[in-house]
Amino acid sequence: MSSPHNSRRTFAIISHPDAGKTTLTEKLLLQGGAIHLAGEVKARGQARRARSDWMKIEQQRGISVTSSVMTFERDGITFNLLDTPGHEDFSEDTYRTLTAVDSAIMVIDAAKGIEPQTRKLFEVCRLRSVPIITFVNKVDREGRPVFELLDEIAEMLALDVSPQTFPVGMGGQFEGILDFATGNVARPEGPSKEFLGTIDEKPVLPEQWAEEAELAQIGYPAFDLEAYRNGDLTPVYFGSALKNFGVVDLIDAIARYAPPPRPQPAGEEQISPDRDEVTGFIFKVQANMDPNHRDRIAFMRQVSGTFKRGMKLIPSGLGKPIAIHSPILFFAQDREIADTAEAGDIIGIPNHGTLRVGDTLSEKNDIRFTGLPNFAPEILRRVQLVDPTKTKQLRKALDDLSEEGVIQVFYPEIGAQWIVGVVGQLQLEVLISRLSAEYKVEAMLEASPFATARWIKGSDAALKTFEEFNRPNLAKDRDGDLVFMARSPWDVNYQQEKNPDLVFSATKER
Ligand code: GDP
Repeated sequence: MSSPHNSRRTFAIISHPDAGKTTLTEKLLLQGGAIHLAGEVKARGQARRARSDWMKIEQQRGISVTSSVMTFERDGITFNLLDTPGHEDFSEDTYRTLTAVDSAIMVIDAAKGIEPQTRKLFEVCRLRSVPIITFVNKVDREGRPVFELLDEIAEMLALDVSPQTFPVGMGGQFEGILDFATGNVARPEGPSKEFLGTIDEKPVLPEQWAEEAELAQIGYPAFDLEAYRNGDLTPVYFGSALKNFGVVDLIDAIARYAPPPRPQPAGEEQISPDRDEVTGFIFKVQANMDPNHRDRIAFMRQVSGTFKRGMKLIPSGLGKPIAIHSPILFFAQDREIADTAEAGDIIGIPNHGTLRVGDTLSEKNDIRFTGLPNFAPEILRRVQLVDPTKTKQLRKALDDLSEEGVIQVFYPEIGAQWIVGVVGQLQLEVLISRLSAEYKVEAMLEASPFATARWIKGSDAALKTFEEFNRPNLAKDRDGDLVFMARSPWDVNYQQEKNPDLVFSATKER
């Protein structure tokens, strides 16, 4: 029999900035009946953003730093769309959000093809075998030839492509989208040339298009559900988010093909969504959504069981149960209080700092989800206070923000200058502006002598010897774990060779 979680589709959209992710999100929510007017996603986003000063960075750059969760329903399927930050310097937040989805839509601009950010995000999906549906957007404008685009996806991503639809012309010549399965064509209408619901049944196409369409069908592999779910093949849909072409095709494809909640790794075990016990993991914590309240919201991806409001769950970082009285489901219209939730759903849990990224929540405290690592930072900076009496506030802020995953913080064993580490440059700007806006701490960042950091593990004796000789290069992270601060990548290799008993790790699992 079908369990409730089989009707869940939890997915993200990956793309390069400007490919049309925001527009597509809006149209998906519109089709799902979650919003009633296009434009509301941005409008509401801006109202929320205005509350917090640091988000000015987003506005100036026209990017979205925060992830959010949008839920909509259609034909009995519940879609959970997780927004991934799409800017160039993507942070750990992006990686972690992709650990919480079961599939992804990859949006490509028909005029540009595969761009660097699309590729990076794709690689993260591949690491976890996350299946991908491809949407080639903006066919209402002049784009690159269809075959060139299909071949580029196949070659650059080493992936089989299986076109499911075909643009009948692009740009000025655009006459609609042909659906291979039915032979029907969705037509543009009116002065804006939008898709308003008109579909021609099996029209006879002009010869050139008929030939190309046939070539596209016979020249590429047929759709294969297993190959798609293994991440070896991507079905490709053409369309225009702006003009509403291909949006319903995408929703249908996700409903039909995208996997329901997948089992999640917990060490050697795989935790099935069918497990009775409620389990989940925190993949994101958002603090200070409202500067007047110091509350945070922890986002939990539910992995198994049926959650009921008021239920007690045990966070792995705490070891004793907490009652979850006011969980939040992120419906696009409003935040609704959830009474029940199933595997695949995302629940927002308000808390005062008890829940942290990477924490497992469970009823019995008997498992730990794995695969939500911290990444070694690639940029390290010293934090310099403008007003030296604010040390306490600074420490609190750095602890908070590292908990949120905005930065990592390192407290050197010698000296009082704290070091922050990030994966992308943009995180540094976010840090300075949030310190000022939310913690009233003015700080500057200075060059640090270090290039990267490695978590070190080993026997007590081996660690002790290493500490004696390397104290100036050692620090503790926020959890008190020992970190080797390296002056160069060469330094890491050197120490590794010299200390074969120690493990130098570029990631840390909590
Ligand atoms: P994001 O950065 O990926 O979120 O991209 P946006 O959704 O903000 O879109 C970037 C720009 O491309 C905006 O000016 C959109 O209006 C435009 N755009 C998005 N989709 C389409 C489309 O299908 N056709 C055309 N012509 N423009 C589009």
